[in-house]
Amino acid sequence: MDRKKFIKFVGLTSLAMHIDSLNALHQFSSSLPNAERMPVLFLGHGNPMNAIEENEFVQGFRNAAKTLPKPKAILCVSAHWFIKGTKVTAMDMPPTIHDFGGFPKALFDVQYPAKGDPQLAKETQQLLLPTPVELDESWGLDHGAWTVIKHLYPNADIPVMQLSIDYTKPASYHYELAKRLAVLRDKGVLIIGSGNIVHNLSLVDFQNINKVDYGFDWAVEARQQINQWLLDGNFQPIVDYDKQSKAIQLAVPTPDHYLPLVYSLGLKNKSESLSLFNDKLLAGSLSMTSVKIG
Ligand code: ZN
Repeated sequence: MDRKKFIKFVGLTSLAMHIDSLNALHQFSSSLPNAERMPVLFLGHGNPMNAIEENEFVQGFRNAAKTLPKPKAILCVSAHWFIKGTKVTAMDMPPTIHDFGGFPKALFDVQYPAKGDPQLAKETQQLLLPTPVELDESWGLDHGAWTVIKHLYPNADIPVMQLSIDYTKPASYHYELAKRLAVLRDKGVLIIGSGNIVHNLSLVDFQNINKVDYGFDWAVEARQQINQWLLDGNFQPIVDYDKQSKAIQLAVPTPDHYLPLVYSLGLKNKSESLSLFNDKLLAGSLSMTSVKIG
């Protein structure tokens, strides 16, 4: 190939690449039309039995759903998909995963037959670039997702995807990664973090597993402090939780149930409102505190 032809070839190739990327952008913006901006939730999911029991917390989930526009899809960041790397579920029909033991058969019998949204999973993968995100065909809906989403949308008529939490990364990484998902809110996607803010299973008072408004002194202190930061919009100390008081170290002994909160906070605009619901301690060392943003 002579020089002139070569330049022409390179020029055409880069033009073709440019058109490809424009097409990708166009596909993204057209897959879901712009919609009313969706609020963001963080849900304290607590005991898996909440899926089939009637109590003030499941009523709280239902009441929260009544305040939301109907979403086109749900993206859930669950404490129970805590793995190496970031994946997004990309199957047509995500299976209901019963990822627990020692519960009654009635809980294992629950199915939540929401569809997935493979196209939206691909778009989520693109949005998170350059972070590599794997399209996943092997997970589904774990109990961090279905035991609570079931109360928001009992008819399972909204597609649900899950995003994993990369356990190799610090909270600041997750806070920044979440920001790249914000555009989905304008496409009618409800993003839900599902975990628990105060969550120390090794100190649970199993004699009083359902006792509400019951927290050890450190749990009372941690709840009060984190709530104050939430309501003040002062998120940096929440992201830097591992540099905080002994009470907060006891409340967050491992990051799995806490990081979904960090995702939800990363999605908040400065001007948006933030409110708390289900804001109670339970069983000594757990909290059900849930957050609505927007
Ligand atoms: Zn859990």
